[in-house]
Amino acid sequence: MSEGMKQQSAADLESKSSADMGQQALWTHVKSGLKNEFGEDVFNAWLTNLECAGVEGGTLSISARTPFVRDWVKRHYAPKILEMWMREDGRVMAIEVIAQKASQMSPVETQQTALAQKQDQTQASDVLEDSFGARLDPRYSFDNFVVGKSNELAFAAAQRVADSSEVPFNPLFLHGGCGLGKTHLMHAIANKVRREHPERIVMYMSAEKFMFQFISALRYKDTVAFKRQFRSVDLLMIDDVQFIANKNSTQEEFFHTFNALVDNRRQVVISADRSPTDLEGIEERIVSRLGWGLVADIHPTDYELRLGILQAKAEKLEGTSVRDDVIEFLAHRITSNVRELEGALNRVAAYATLVGRPVTIDMTRDVLQDLIRANDRKITIDEIQRQVAEYYNLRMADLLSARRSRNIARPRQVAMYLSKQFTSRSLPEIGRKFGGRDHTTVIHAVRKVDDLRLTDSALEDDIARLSRMLRG
Ligand code: ADP
Ligand code: MG
Repeated sequence: MSEGMKQQSAADLESKSSADMGQQALWTHVKSGLKNEFGEDVFNAWLTNLECAGVEGGTLSISARTPFVRDWVKRHYAPKILEMWMREDGRVMAIEVIAQKASQMSPVETQQTALAQKQDQTQASDVLEDSFGARLDPRYSFDNFVVGKSNELAFAAAQRVADSSEVPFNPLFLHGGCGLGKTHLMHAIANKVRREHPERIVMYMSAEKFMFQFISALRYKDTVAFKRQFRSVDLLMIDDVQFIANKNSTQEEFFHTFNALVDNRRQVVISADRSPTDLEGIEERIVSRLGWGLVADIHPTDYELRLGILQAKAEKLEGTSVRDDVIEFLAHRITSNVRELEGALNRVAAYATLVGRPVTIDMTRDVLQDLIRANDRKITIDEIQRQVAEYYNLRMADLLSARRSRNIARPRQVAMYLSKQFTSRSLPEIGRKFGGRDHTTVIHAVRKVDDLRLTDSALEDDIARLSRMLRG
């Protein structure tokens, strides 16, 4: 860019006393690009009156006539504006849209505002989405999250993030076992921010999706657009970040995205099934940076919390009432996680509706046999390995070795499969327990056994027998 692109203070730019010709020329160029992109109508309705207020510290500032147009432009056109600007000026990494005085609305603008508000309401009545169209589950709210000792820190932190106009801590790192409410809290943050601050750009995404998007951006040589979509957000949430362990280039990109956002004081929220320091296969510098903000862990539920959750969910059940003794029974016996607890309650209620009898403890015991047994016994990977080795008459050392002969490899796959079924260990953890294998080996084993079970009745038999022995 020309000399004229040099940075200016916001005050200068707002007074426009020193209009920067280079910048203004570029803005004119971008505007004509926008007209082509969105067509005359949209352009005249929303974009023609936008002004370039300058570039400061890598952020392009665009000003709109009214707060409403600002919000609308921010949500619908800001990413494209940024992309077009970045194509010409590589130093710009982010965009902000600001409003001029709120009072001076022309009649046309007043009308425009009303119209857009109407459009917006129709959208809002549908499923809430983040600014990039990821579906946010509207059922996940702060209101229906039951708080106990094990999750109060995570809950309070998530609320702070949703309520603060400033970034209270960056990142917020939520971690805890599966089914304990991490995704629920993230959606609750997103839902609340989307509802109360529609002008903020919110993005929620699983780490897995982040990776797939990144890979396809690489494939289609479209990484500029990929970067752009992330760097324009106010609030980025990446769920299950353990997923990108060992995925080096994805990690690298994630780290850059993360840094860019944190440096621009945008809020980042991350979840994982373990703490930053326990994340293996993630680079040290990333781990340390992830721990800079607030790390909040969600512990396994205790009896009181389980009781509270069940009571809350039971109240919402239509058509069936679940007696207190049944709720207490469930809270005692289903200890694994909230997801299973919910599932158990729903199963019993569905059964009761079906047979037209009220829920009793005996019925519950009957309907939930398998679940209760699994919750009674914590099956470990060691135990599975021992049992499988014994069953197939192998030595433990062979089972865990690198040997690939069929008579060893198959039982090993069965043991991996059972570990996935019976424990809550992650794929990388299972891999490590099997002589330090990669999690892809475990995925392969699980798929293989799943396939074989359908055609190989001897194997199916083995699995059934082993499962019975493990359940005790
Ligand atoms: P995670 O992402 O940690 O694996 P989820 O957020 O998907 O767990 O939670 C699993 C299920 O349990 C969801 O349906 C969620 O609504 C519910 N849940 C978890 N914790 C709570 C809680 N404290 N109060 C109410 N529901 C909860
Ligand atoms: Mg989750």
